[in-house]
Amino acid sequence: MPDTPPVTRATTLALAIAQAADPTTVREVEHPAFAGDAEAGGFAARYDQTLLVCGVDGGRSWSVDPCTDEGRRAAIEAYWRVARRRRERERTAIDPASLPATTRAAVDVVVAGLRSAADLHPVPLDEAGEPVDVARADATLVLLRRAMRPTAAVAAGASRDGGASTTRTPDGERPTARRPTQAQVLRAVARHEVLAQEPTSTAHPCPLCATPALGGPRYDRAVCDDCHERPRCVHGRAVGGANTGLGGGFVAHHRDDGSACETTQTHRVWIDGHPCHMDEARFGGVVVEALLPPAITLVRGDITREAVDAVVNAANTAMRGGGGVDGAIHRAGGPAVLADCIARFPRGLAVGDAGWTTAGDLPAHRVIHTVGPSWAAGERDRALLVSCYRRSLEVADEIGSRTLAFPLISAGVYAWPLADAAAAAVETLRATPSRVREVRIVAFSDEAAVAVGRALGAGGAAEG
Ligand SMILES: [Zn+2]
Ligand SMILES: [Zn+2]
Repeated sequence: MPDTPPVTRATTLALAIAQAADPTTVREVEHPAFAGDAEAGGFAARYDQTLLVCGVDGGRSWSVDPCTDEGRRAAIEAYWRVARRRRERERTAIDPASLPATTRAAVDVVVAGLRSAADLHPVPLDEAGEPVDVARADATLVLLRRAMRPTAAVAAGASRDGGASTTRTPDGERPTARRPTQAQVLRAVARHEVLAQEPTSTAHPCPLCATPALGGPRYDRAVCDDCHERPRCVHGRAVGGANTGLGGGFVAHHRDDGSACETTQTHRVWIDGHPCHMDEARFGGVVVEALLPPAITLVRGDITREAVDAVVNAANTAMRGGGGVDGAIHRAGGPAVLADCIARFPRGLAVGDAGWTTAGDLPAHRVIHTVGPSWAAGERDRALLVSCYRRSLEVADEIGSRTLAFPLISAGVYAWPLADAAAAAVETLRATPSRVREVRIVAFSDEAAVAVGRALGAGGAAEG
């Protein structure tokens, strides 16, 4: 392996000593046949409750020490079988024609030094003669790039977090300034069977740098692998995330000294100054999503009928129901909404603040209540009106609501001038990055709809 120091009995023991909580527990686990295989063999050591296997091909495996000689031998031989298979696959030259069109496209992107399958010209065709599916080819591309890193995480496609047993397989070729040859890329494909198969997921352009990123429909704002390594916390320190257990849980820690960071509570991090959300992914691992302003659409109609994750209610400070939108939401939601308001907000809410309750019988899942300033009562500080929209988006992020329906806050009996109420809504929603994807502004009258339409048009093309 070029550029890779040889793996020996001594380097294996040195690694075990370096990693052991109690270095006096380090012992070599002897397996002469494994040690004698110069191509796919290696060495093993145990320490603490861990069995470490280091392959001469650069592969490594950590597993729970089986604690018996037979168990250790079986674990080493299981590793050895996989290493031999990898070696065999690597020896067999892959015919690109035997690969799915998505993999062929991914290989071409790496060899040509491009960013995405979308940059290939002419557009490659799939088995059916149709243009290759870029999102799927890019999914394979992300996994291929992971496989070609010097210390690729696990096998391509496996999750980032370690389970009871992990294996790392450094590849021979380092990604250098020089672009890899097609033969080198095909060897990486050969080492990782998943790369020679149709992808099971799709990629999307990283919202920060447009490099293909994996996330699937649920995490379509997830950042790419490079951006994923670069978040900074509220203290400006490089920060990483980790799962705390198989059953769920997440911690954020400073990369320099490993200390916990309050990012764990807020989940807010920054990549090159752009706000992002870092959290445990639903199926393990850590996901970093870019926060973006929502897409805004205008709806003329009845907000209580909107089938969104959360409807926003223009409440008053008492939060016990009222007229206009407030009355309509309480009527349509039923007594459960009022009961939850009383239980969760015994003292109501301040002007400019927001909080959530159940949605009762509404088609929406939650109600986010926010209290707008009453122009009629002399509350004319626009910052309070702006705060209603900002706080509502923050609350939506807390409860994971991705689609919201807003009324025009303060524009009813509170009598905020309609044009400015609409302008404040559109300006603030457009300027507030969050995890919310879609906001429908539901206008209660034709006049309100016209005002919102004007405000949408004023800042660029109206959507919806
Ligand atoms: Zn990126
Ligand atoms: Zn911090």
